[in-house]
Amino acid sequence: MPDLQEETATLFDGRILRYFDVVNSGRAAATDQRRADSGPAQGQQRWDPLRQEWVTVSAARNGRPLLPVDCPLCPTTTGNPTEIPAQDYYIAVFDNRFPSFTGTPTRSDQSAELGAERPANGHCEVVCFSADHASAYHQLDTKRIADILSVQAQRTAELFERPDVREVTCFENRGVDIGVTLHHPHGQIYAYPDVTPTTALQYTNALRHRRDTGKDLFQEILDFEVRAGERIIAETDHWVAFVPHSARWPCEIHIYPTTGLRDLTELDEPRIHGFAPLVKSILAAMTTDLSDDVPYMTAWRQAPRTADGRFDGVGRLRFEIVSPRRSAGKLKYLASSEALMGAFVNDVAPESLAEHLRTHLNTRESA
Ligand SMILES: [Zn+2]
Repeated sequence: MPDLQEETATLFDGRILRYFDVVNSGRAAATDQRRADSGPAQGQQRWDPLRQEWVTVSAARNGRPLLPVDCPLCPTTTGNPTEIPAQDYYIAVFDNRFPSFTGTPTRSDQSAELGAERPANGHCEVVCFSADHASAYHQLDTKRIADILSVQAQRTAELFERPDVREVTCFENRGVDIGVTLHHPHGQIYAYPDVTPTTALQYTNALRHRRDTGKDLFQEILDFEVRAGERIIAETDHWVAFVPHSARWPCEIHIYPTTGLRDLTELDEPRIHGFAPLVKSILAAMTTDLSDDVPYMTAWRQAPRTADGRFDGVGRLRFEIVSPRRSAGKLKYLASSEALMGAFVNDVAPESLAEHLRTHLNTRESA
């Protein structure tokens, strides 16, 4: 991240705030005037023996504000002391005040058996994309989107250095229908003490595929979609965006780097700067016939680490965008079949969605 300066401050309860900007701004000198309290509470993980998964119980999160009038992610003003003590910022990252996971991860030797409990270790950060409350990720200029990606890569590198962080994801929830609690344009970073259930399933299957065939399942998926062509939304020198053949959601888009990279730390400058206009145009195309408040979830899927902190060659960096919107004004809800049985029924043909997005992308580019 050669052209971004990082300055670090400490918030009223000991949490760390990082300002990123193209210049050394001196913003870290602004002090947090809020009254000290005990800091974030730690949740608990409980073992589900049927699913063979840890479930996190974080009751303190139930107390976090829901769409408050005074936004805690805006720069501080006289009447609104926020998480950002400075009067302005470019990009800011701070430890989540209501974290799902917190505390220094320790070696995961907790026995997994019926009734097992352990502290919900790990780390959660909030990434403020802009000081402009009324903006949105896809409305930001491409330079800033590229800089956000550089910051996410830097944070990924640092979080993977923590003992026994097995997986790091950078994500964004957007829109009231997704359940956002703050409108301010922001994303989050979770550093998990274990490989998450979905990643573990994909990792296990990719590992078995490599063992059985000697081939990379992620590359085969990408090659399959490029060959088929009909679900491709956009192809650039460094990225391919497509609706997957077996999409679960009415709006589901995967963006793969053209070469196999394990995580954001392996992105070079051309890939970072190539991603920004691509994701901006795709998100804009999603909103073309809708309001700007189209609900969506995005996540960077990054290769997990082994229990002893190594990358074993399985897993691939990719970006996913999912929206429950099935048509204007209509949402797909995860009902009994999806939420309880795990059996997804998609109301939209992936090929139709890809064609729709391609049309809007081309319309915008030729406008
Ligand atoms: Zn705000």
